[in-house]
Amino acid sequence: MKLALSIGLTLVGLSAMAQPLAIASLQEPVSVEPIDSMAPAAADGAEVKYVNYLAFDTSLIPCSDLYDYSWDSLHLDQPKVQPGDTSVAVTLSLVESECSYHHPCNGPITSNFGWRRYRMHKGIDIDLHTGDSVYAAFDGVVRIAKYNYGGFGHYIVIRHYNGLETLYGHLSKRIAVPNQTIKAGEVIGLGGNTGRSTGSHLHFEVLYRGCQINPNKIISFTEHSLKIDSVDLDITDFKYTAKYASGAPNPNGMLYYRIRSGDSLWRIGKRYGTSVDRLCRLNGISRNTTLRIGRRLRVR
Ligand SMILES: [Zn+2]
Repeated sequence: MKLALSIGLTLVGLSAMAQPLAIASLQEPVSVEPIDSMAPAAADGAEVKYVNYLAFDTSLIPCSDLYDYSWDSLHLDQPKVQPGDTSVAVTLSLVESECSYHHPCNGPITSNFGWRRYRMHKGIDIDLHTGDSVYAAFDGVVRIAKYNYGGFGHYIVIRHYNGLETLYGHLSKRIAVPNQTIKAGEVIGLGGNTGRSTGSHLHFEVLYRGCQINPNKIISFTEHSLKIDSVDLDITDFKYTAKYASGAPNPNGMLYYRIRSGDSLWRIGKRYGTSVDRLCRLNGISRNTTLRIGRRLRVR
């Protein structure tokens, strides 16, 4: 822990010197360990703040105003575009003198952004070999670097000066640490197959205020370059989120329901005019399967 912290501080120091935007240094220790462990941790006697902490100079944080001055090292989707919020309309300059672009890794796409059979795939999968370098797409500051057992495995989230965030999942090794300033093209980790992944690949997401947008809107994954210099985002870019939240049918005509406390298959079936047997068939479960609160159940 102590070693990791000192490395993190050094990296930030060096990066800060390398670019004029990052002028301040860290004031307090920050949490650089995976936060999944519930054990309280302290470094050098200081309290480690885990959620919504602003433990380092706030002038380092890119686009604070766009993000309600939050800097959350735990939660990917905070703050979040609310489904149906039609006031979301923004034009972002993707590259400026202080923010260039570098392709995260140059392999072919193995799975695109969009609806898969049962769920929304909110990123793009790029083929790679375990150990291949993964590069920061734009300049920015690392917000999250942690391990997520059931999902992204080792992953990193960077907030960029252009207002977007990018996520890099299933890494075999994390190199960048939270609060580290980073330039486009810097190696932030090594590709791998950790978390919920079959076969080594990079799961790459582009987000605005906690919601994924289609990376193809701004990036050419065949040319390995940016398509446009600035991007207009509005609520139509997050339409899938609204559908997902409201339970409206997705483009494949399926309907999903999020399981709540007190639900039973019989109850859900009654609400959606379907039978318990059909619910079991649609979801590959039996009548005796325990319904886990928060999980999605296909009802049509
Ligand atoms: Zn993926």
